[in-house]
This record gives sequence, structure tokens and C-alpha cells, in this order.
Amino acid sequence: MIMGYHFRVWQALRMNHVAHESTSGPDDASDPKKNPLTMFESNSLDWLVVGGGLHGVHLAARLVGEAGVAPSRLGILDPEEQLLDCWRTFTAVTGMSHLRSPGVHHLDLEPFSLIRFAGQRRHRTPGLLRGRYKLPALDLFNAHCDRVIERYSLAGAHVRDHAKCLEPQDDHVRVTTRRGQQIEARRVVLAIGAGGQPAWPSWAPRGEAYVHHVFDRVKNKELSPTEGCLLVVGGGISAAQVALRFVAQGRKVCLVVRHPLRVHRFDSDPGWLGPKLMPLFRRERRPDHRRRILHEARHRGSVTPEVLRALRAAQSTGLLEIHQGAVSDLSIADSGICLSLASALPKSDARKPGTVIEGTHLYLATGFASRRPGGALLDRLVADFDLPCAACGYPIVDDLLRWHPRIHVSGPLAELELGPVSRNIAGARRAGNRLVAAHVRLGWAA
Ligand SMILES: Cc1cc2nc3c(=O)[nH]c(=O)nc-3n(C[C@H](O)[C@H](O)[C@H](O)COP(=O)(O)OP(=O)(O)OC[C@H]3O[C@@H](n4cnc5c(N)ncnc54)[C@H](O)[C@@H]3O)c2cc1C
Repeated sequence: MIMGYHFRVWQALRMNHVAHESTSGPDDASDPKKNPLTMFESNSLDWLVVGGGLHGVHLAARLVGEAGVAPSRLGILDPEEQLLDCWRTFTAVTGMSHLRSPGVHHLDLEPFSLIRFAGQRRHRTPGLLRGRYKLPALDLFNAHCDRVIERYSLAGAHVRDHAKCLEPQDDHVRVTTRRGQQIEARRVVLAIGAGGQPAWPSWAPRGEAYVHHVFDRVKNKELSPTEGCLLVVGGGISAAQVALRFVAQGRKVCLVVRHPLRVHRFDSDPGWLGPKLMPLFRRERRPDHRRRILHEARHRGSVTPEVLRALRAAQSTGLLEIHQGAVSDLSIADSGICLSLASALPKSDARKPGTVIEGTHLYLATGFASRRPGGALLDRLVADFDLPCAACGYPIVDDLLRWHPRIHVSGPLAELELGPVSRNIAGARRAGNRLVAAHVRLGWAA
């Protein structure tokens, strides 16, 4: 186990705390001791953050720690049991040991907070911050997130419910939840991410016991099959990590990638983090051209050099096979699942067209659907309040990330304004700058 001093102390405190925490469920909403909403002075807040993922938590921390919003005047609406549950589940399922992003990308305010949290270099266990970019170990990153939540009293702001309807009024937004609560907030920020829409290829049947999407929140806890060859489909880092995780358990794995493995250190050029490339994006005012820039800038379906090395090492043990080709069909035979590959490229790992690969369980690691997240909630909002959208369906927002005078956005919903890193932790930090500016610049006038 890799540990630094602060991190070790934090873990000890945390375990003690967790041991005393009650496990409240959604049905506890009527209990005033367990439902934070009843602890607010009233149901009228200054800010309501919809979504308690990495983005929602960082934005809430910025509003409290930097813009001076009282924690009792802020709510974070999210149906999960704990803040960041989606992040923790997804990252745990991949078996990843480290983040792909550098140690200065985290949820706290001050850029070096996470690096300091890891402890002094000479006392730090090797690997806690990896390489020249100080990629944080997942355990370290998560412990630091817990500290941010505690430092800014964010757990007390968590309302466990799902936003069902948003109705902007003159001086506030009324949010109705699935359980029928009504919350009023002067400003709302939508930080709902894309985590709720895993991408299902058309050939993969839903609802079958042997087909899993690794980012399906309901089923992915069953990721421990006991027999047979496991089929993993996907060409990005998560597919590779899931395959490596199974290999580490001694399982035979076939990884099916529709393109040659692409290697990139980060999921977009670091130039998009600052003045090297972002002016190009800002200068472009046409949303459809911005969409094209986003598409070209992102290294979708890529792995890091370390992950590629690990894949090659796993191949050499014979436990991992990598097949290159697009799946055209799935069928069931006595031996299990058969995947037909329709096409293949003439590369070393490529399969001839018509190849069939067999296994007992299929794991889709095909990422998230590219459509605008938010489903019916946002469809209705757009229709009822005539909110501006690009041809791709995504919001067109101003420099303060306002989609409506009282509704701001973050993450994927802000990508036509914030650029290629908008979905990542760096994007949350960028959105945080804009939100703090909004709080300061607008006051309560707008
Ligand atoms: C395995 C994995 C590894 C990654 N590694 C990195 C990395 O190393 N570095 C990096 O920068 N990025 C990384 N990312 C990308 C990115 O940082 C994450 O996807 C990030 O977690 C997105 O956060 P989010 O808050 O926007 O969305 P989500 O994590 O999807 O959270 C959104 C939250 O909103 C809630 N919600 C949705 N709809 C509603 C509603 N109507 N009402 C109330 N709540 C709602 C959901 O319950 C959820 O909790 C990784 C992503 C994954 C999946």
C-alpha cells in the first residue's frame, strides 16, 4: 500500500468516522435528522448544484471557499447515497491505480493542495504521485476528495434526490424532485455529467445476464465471473484497464478493439489547458465549428504508454489476446457468446473479416453516449424556456456559463464554451473560475 503521512492520518480518521456513520437510504427523506434539506433554514437557497459528482463537488467547494457562500445557503442535489458515488464506482470497476491527469487537477481550491496532502517527498511512499506529472494514486485522490467535502461542509448540503423539473421564475428557480420536494434557489448550476448514459453498441442485447456495461451503475457490481474466457470490447483506457484487471485475477481475456491501439499520455493535448490552444477555440464563434474542434482535439479511445506496456506484458503471458475489428453481430452458442468481427485492418493484431471470437461473459467498455446528457429534464427545459442549443443539441452559454439568466452549466453541458477539457477535472476547475466570477459580478441583481 502506498502512503504519505497526511494521507495515512486522514485514512485513520476517515475509517473511524465511517464506522460511526449511519447508512441512511432514500426512504429516510422524511426523517429530519437524516434529510439535509430539512436542516436548511428554508427550502430557499442561494445556490443549488444539481449533481454531486466531481464537477458538482468542486463547484460547491469554490462557491463556499472562494465566493463566500454560506454552506447552509447551498444545496447539492444528487440521488446517490454519498457525494462522488458515481466517480468511485466507475474508477473502482476499472481497477485503475492512478489517475490519468496530473496532481494539480483535483477538487480543492489551491492548485498544490493534493501534492501537499501526499506528504513531503522524502517521506512519501514511491508511487503515491507517479512520474513527472505527479499522477495521483486513486486512493490518495479519493482521500483528498473526502477532505475537501469535509473542509467545506459539503456532506451537510447533500440532498438525496433527483431533479425532475426546473422552472425559472423572476428571482429564483424552482426545482421539483422525483420525491416531490420543491427547492427554490436564486441560482442553479447543472453539473449532471454523462455518467448516467453508458454507450451501448446496437449489436449488444440489453438485460441479458452475460452482457455487462462496465459503467452500468446497477449491474457493474457483478464484475467477478468465475469461469470461461471474458470478452472486453472497447479501445480506450477503461477497456484496457478492465482487461488487465481480469488478467491480474488469472482470467483468460479477449480484448476487442475496433482500431489499432492509440497511445496518448493525456486524453487531449495539454495545450488545451491554457493559452497555447484555447485562443483558437475562443476565436471560433460558430457552435458547429467548435463541435468539430472538440471532436478533433479529444484523443478518444486512447491508452497511456504505461497501459500499453502492461497490455503487451499481459499478452506475453498468454492470458490476454487483443483482436482488432468492429463487432457486427453477437450470437449465442453452446460454448457461450460469439462475437463476429465485420471488418479488420491489416495490422499485426488484426483479424480477418468474418472472424468469430468466443467467450462466456461480455464486458462493454464503450464509454458514454455522445448525446446531450440530462434526458427529459433538459428536453423540457429547452422546450418550455426556449434555451439556445447548437445543432448537436448542446447548450450555447455565455462566458459566465449561463444557459438561462439563473441557470449555469458545467461538464459536458459547458463544452461548447470551455473547450476539450470541459468534462475532466481541469474542466471542473475552469467552470469553477467562471462560477465564482458570476457570483461576484452578478451579485443578486440579475
Ligand atoms: C473511469 C474513469 C476515469 C477517469 N479518469 C480521469 C482522470 O484521471 N482525470 C480527469 O480529469 N478525468 C477523468 N475522468 C473523466 C471525468 O473527470 C469524469 O467523468 C468525472 O467524474 C465527471 O464528473 P461529473 O460530475 O461531470 O459527472 P458524473 O460523475 O457523471 O456525476 C454527475 C452526478 O449527477 C447526478 N445527476 C444526474 N442527473 C441528475 C438529476 N436530474 N438530479 C440530480 N442529480 C443528477 C448523478 O447521480 C451523478 O452523481 C475519468 C472518468 C472515468 C469514467
